Amino acid sequence: MLHTARTHDDRNTVFMNPNISNFNGIDIPSDDVLTNCMHCGLCLPVCPTFAITGREKSSPRGRIRLIKAVAEGTLEMTEGFVDEMNFCLDCQACETACPAGVKYGSLVESVRNQMRIQGKESTTALTLKWIFLRNVVSKKYLLKLVARTLGIYQSSGLERLVKKSYVIKKLAPKLSKLQELSPRIDGRFFDDIYPEIVTPTVVPKYRVGFLSGCIMNVAFAKINEDTVKVLLHHDCEVIIPKDQVCCGSLQAHNGDFDIARTLAKKNIDVFLKYDLDAIVMNSAGCGALMKEYGHYLHDDLLYAKKAEILSSKVKDISEFLFEIGLKKPVKEYCHRVSYHDACHLVHAQKVSKQPRELIRSIPGIEYVELNEASWCCGSAGTYNIIRHEDSMIILDRKIENVKIADAEFLVANNPGCLTQIEYGCANNHIKTKVIHLATLLRDVYEL
Ligand code: SF4
Ligand code: SF4
Repeated sequence: MLHTARTHDDRNTVFMNPNISNFNGIDIPSDDVLTNCMHCGLCLPVCPTFAITGREKSSPRGRIRLIKAVAEGTLEMTEGFVDEMNFCLDCQACETACPAGVKYGSLVESVRNQMRIQGKESTTALTLKWIFLRNVVSKKYLLKLVARTLGIYQSSGLERLVKKSYVIKKLAPKLSKLQELSPRIDGRFFDDIYPEIVTPTVVPKYRVGFLSGCIMNVAFAKINEDTVKVLLHHDCEVIIPKDQVCCGSLQAHNGDFDIARTLAKKNIDVFLKYDLDAIVMNSAGCGALMKEYGHYLHDDLLYAKKAEILSSKVKDISEFLFEIGLKKPVKEYCHRVSYHDACHLVHAQKVSKQPRELIRSIPGIEYVELNEASWCCGSAGTYNIIRHEDSMIILDRKIENVKIADAEFLVANNPGCLTQIEYGCANNHIKTKVIHLATLLRDVYEL
């Protein structure tokens, strides 16, 4: 079984002098920035923000220098510094490219946590990140209320009116973009349909937990359902704890470690009540964070050990199915299929072989590799709302490659990527359907 969770030892030593540093508190950035970065620049060609600007300060190496300067007290957390930290997608492509093993993702997340603690965020970022992520996404009943309201808005015709409104586009361009990138709410929330324990028709071979998620639960219920159907088909008993909460990934990746830890503890309690072979994820961002629960709670007396246990069981659906072996489909599936690597799957979890092998193993499929498959699509959690223009430049590059691949289906294992690339395809009149691996497999098995 693969396990990619980091331990706290490789990321948590303190490099700066607390008397002069402009960082403070327990979650200060790690010193691997000082000890590991050799300033070789190998990370520059893979960085989407460096590709946009060509400026050193918008590259991983440049940001590391900026962070070091703040850590050493020679630079304040200025507006420009904060802007560079938020310009970064946290895609972690630089981590994959780095020969020195610099943990850039955890570094930028720690810095964002510092920005939050020290009140350095802009009003827009504060509203979206701290109010929406902390107080809506983290609370199931509130998220459902917001989703229901959005669903009514989308289905009532009001959305169409607003879309056509020149005044809204002019006066509130962010709102206008937000609604264009919002997932469709179909009124059926996943956890309202499925019970806590779902059993296959045969004697189960595996007992797996399933994270139904926050946004996945209300806006991607169909993908969750596809995932459960595929797991049942592979002789799994599926445990979907009713008391589970949002995993905390959007919050942690945006630097809100406090709420991420609270959510992590709750999930540890509800999932570890069961003796599980694995906890299966269908969202790359959630999987990446849950594999890090051990890190976030490493100094918690009560939860450190339990967090490590939980993290060791977390598997992306592609990892899990690859390990247990995909069942042979009864019919050939004659379609041209390509695959996009979600950043938090390929770079954060180092999962890239498994989904490709699974797709390639399906009889009848013509697999076509996407150029620059591991280049970010620009979704990056709330990035495509907060930094919409930059996000669209990054998306354009992805869409050019989707056009070249000319596949009927493009598979991606993350809801943000699905929505973003679908949006790009629709705007560019590209017929490729962007689907989750679980949806593809459900179709293959005709479940
Ligand atoms: S590749 Fe790694 S070591 Fe080289 S500059 Fe980038 S972060 Fe530093
Ligand atoms: S995480 Fe992505 S956007 Fe940020 S510095 Fe690294 S490669 Fe660039």
